[in-house]
Amino acid sequence: MKYLSTRGDTTPRGFSDILLEGLAPDGGLYLPTHYPQVDETTLTRWRRLSYADLAFEILSLYIDDIPAADLKALVHRTYTREVFGTDAIVPLRRVEDGIHIEALSNGPTLAFKDMAMQLLGNLFEYELARRGEELNILGATSGDTGSAAEYAMRGKRGVRVFMLSPKGRMSAFQQAQMFSLQDANIHNLSIEGVFDDCQDIVKAVSNHLDFKRRWKIGTVNSINWARLLAQVVYYFAGYFQATSGRVQATPERVSFAVPSGNFGNVCAGHVARMMGVPIHRLVVATNENDVLDEFFRTGTYRVRGTAETHETSSPSMDISKASNFERFVFDLLGRDGGRTKALFADAIAKEGGFTLTADEFARVAGFGFVSGRSTHADRLATIRDAWQRCGTMIDTHTADGLKVAREHLDAGVPMLVLETALPAKFAETIREALGREPERPAGLEGIEALPKRFTVLPADTDRVKAYIESHCD
Ligand SMILES: *Cc1c(COP(=O)(O)O)cnc(C)c1O
Repeated sequence: MKYLSTRGDTTPRGFSDILLEGLAPDGGLYLPTHYPQVDETTLTRWRRLSYADLAFEILSLYIDDIPAADLKALVHRTYTREVFGTDAIVPLRRVEDGIHIEALSNGPTLAFKDMAMQLLGNLFEYELARRGEELNILGATSGDTGSAAEYAMRGKRGVRVFMLSPKGRMSAFQQAQMFSLQDANIHNLSIEGVFDDCQDIVKAVSNHLDFKRRWKIGTVNSINWARLLAQVVYYFAGYFQATSGRVQATPERVSFAVPSGNFGNVCAGHVARMMGVPIHRLVVATNENDVLDEFFRTGTYRVRGTAETHETSSPSMDISKASNFERFVFDLLGRDGGRTKALFADAIAKEGGFTLTADEFARVAGFGFVSGRSTHADRLATIRDAWQRCGTMIDTHTADGLKVAREHLDAGVPMLVLETALPAKFAETIREALGREPERPAGLEGIEALPKRFTVLPADTDRVKAYIESHCD
């Protein structure tokens, strides 16, 4: 399989070439030249596989520059009961008739980002060893991404992580999760500033090309194709579980509702659907930051400014633009790189957004996408209803998914709501909704009391650079 850019650069690249890269040189995102098709015979065969074996089959279609035996071993090391809590890895649980929750958040950091990041850690370690290279991952986080990256890269040879977070602005639980890691290759930098300061420092360091090259600075952001590919697997696994064991009235298709921010999760659903998984609808659920809902209702994509970006109680969906969205639009436009570039490079730079033509927008329905938005009041009501009436406790992001899912039910089509985090991460809102503490998975009681390992630095790019230099040897 070869990869090309969404902005027209068709220089063929292999999986290993793009694994450690971010954007394509022309500023676009990488996509495979085509989506391998999976027919009914193959679906029937895959239905019986373990999660790791299923992941291996799917990954093999997109990765031909890692020997099969190595890839298989790597995938089997990643998706284990020890790391994800169950043999099913992504078990379904019933909410009510026709609605299930697919649990994606039983990895080490209790959010779905572990599903991809755990694989990425093993892929990075493998590829770096093969090349005899090292990588220093530099990132900024206000929660989920940073901790998922640290738990994926801890103890990995050839990789160091320098993770910037705004001092005193993460929840006690999230801070404890990150700062309690004692691995020598993990560096928590607590920055005296806000999240934007952290992000600005990361950008400034990455724009300093000499420094970047000299110290082998890389990132693990959500535009990485390997992350998206890892996520394709649980759409297959969810479909198999929802349609298993039903001799009669076997549902032919399923729908997925996806709490969305940067469009990485639901974009993996799009890929699964393009490969042939019988997906009826892909329901994009947003919070008050409704860039994506606006697009799917109107055909207008409008990047928001800081003043228009709300801090909500589903904070991992608080985005001003959706960084993976360009991948879907490229497919929507019949893979026209020139048109995609005109929209994402030119129109966004000039006007802060774009509106599709009526013809282009009319094609969206053919890709199964629908959308909706949810507010803080909706989240509270949905969490309460799920707990009191359905007996299941859900987190704020999953609540956004469930709320919007209910607006798009079709008779006879099971709806799978993706659980993107566990309630334990968002205790404050759970208390507000239910008047009680969220359940906390075994082993995480009292992590706030563990010894913490972090360094406080001012919001100063040079100080961060100096720290990196003195900790790379
Ligand atoms: C990252 C995240 C999301 C959003 O996922 P995208 O891939 O950015 O759309 C939703 N919920 C939680 C809990 C997350 O951590």
